[in-house]
Amino acid sequence: MSEFLPFALPEIGEDEISEVIDSLKSGWITTGPKVKRFEQDFTEFLGDFSLYSIAVNSATSGLHLALEAVGIGPEDEVIVPTYTFTATAEIVRYLGATPVFVDVDPETFNMTCDSFEKAITSRTKAVIPVHFAGLACDMDPIITLAKIRGIKVIEDAAHALPTYYKGKLVGTLASDVTVFSFYANKTMTTGEGGMVVTSNPEIAKRCRVMRLHGISRDVFDRYASKKPAWSYEVVAPGYKYNMPDISAAIGIHQLKKLNVFHIKRQAMAEFYNEALKDLPIILPALPLGNSSHAWHLYPIRLKSNANVSRDVFIEKMYELGVGCSVHFIPLHLHPYWREFYALRPTMFPIAQNIFESEVTLPLYTKMTNDDLEKVVSCVRKVFSNG
Ligand SMILES: *Cc1c(COP(=O)(O)O)cnc(C)c1O
Repeated sequence: MSEFLPFALPEIGEDEISEVIDSLKSGWITTGPKVKRFEQDFTEFLGDFSLYSIAVNSATSGLHLALEAVGIGPEDEVIVPTYTFTATAEIVRYLGATPVFVDVDPETFNMTCDSFEKAITSRTKAVIPVHFAGLACDMDPIITLAKIRGIKVIEDAAHALPTYYKGKLVGTLASDVTVFSFYANKTMTTGEGGMVVTSNPEIAKRCRVMRLHGISRDVFDRYASKKPAWSYEVVAPGYKYNMPDISAAIGIHQLKKLNVFHIKRQAMAEFYNEALKDLPIILPALPLGNSSHAWHLYPIRLKSNANVSRDVFIEKMYELGVGCSVHFIPLHLHPYWREFYALRPTMFPIAQNIFESEVTLPLYTKMTNDDLEKVVSCVRKVFSNG
């Protein structure tokens, strides 16, 4: 009897471990030189030195900072897909603004420009496209429309590292801010962590100030020569969202391995695509042309002629020793969002339909070929036994 295969696991190597030990021994355990290096490395990874990378303690914090920096307040509406994690919408509520939920594309599960356009009102101030599973939303029309209508674009790129959209890396597109996640199960990790990326120096400056109590480093630096080292100035009621060096120590080495991780993920997805193609399954959407897929998730859908329901499928996979998951339980089904905004499944027919048949199979770099074969043979077993 082989061991249970969990749904997700991080891949942490000796490099990360010794870098963390180095931080612990150095005495710099909170934000310090390693965060600075990680931010520089991240900008270098994206390959555009006009970008500012700002390390934070989660993508959720980063999204909150981004919305705050573009000036979202209680009178504003922010358009978000219903098919996402609750973080995408909760940050809108942090600022007292109203999330406006939209349905998604039936193949990519991503927000479309069409659904975005239909949701625009005179109060719309921002839109948050989510690159589901690591496949980019069709950003060109979204960004073009947003610019015409004076709407800010904040990309939730928690799944999209690295993802190419029409030859450009997500993070380097013409949106206002892009936010990445380094949560434990994402394509690279710092335990908990995130990165805010923007080409706008004003937004970058505001995020840097607000991530650490509203303490203005610029004000500090300007007078640094005249003021003693203990002096600082608070210019706003900021947050405690800074990334510690202990996390950056992990991130520095994860980032170095990211392209190798990505090649592995891609090969695993290709293996699944081939091995599962004759089953009553809708395989994940594939990238077009000059685009690529980060393969953070491998989301399949059970066809209506499958002889097993989604819930039973997951239960049987578990019994056979394979952890599966569901991405996502759309926000319109969660009590808070459903009740606060009177949301109904009929308002989001596509997302509802996807959710009812969606299963996410395990896909992570620590999986061996035997693990992949095991998943496929278990999927076959579940279908053959009904
Ligand atoms: C994981 C995730 C987040 C939040 O990331 P954290 O780093 O855990 O805050 C936000 N949006 C989406 C779509 C996610 O999957």
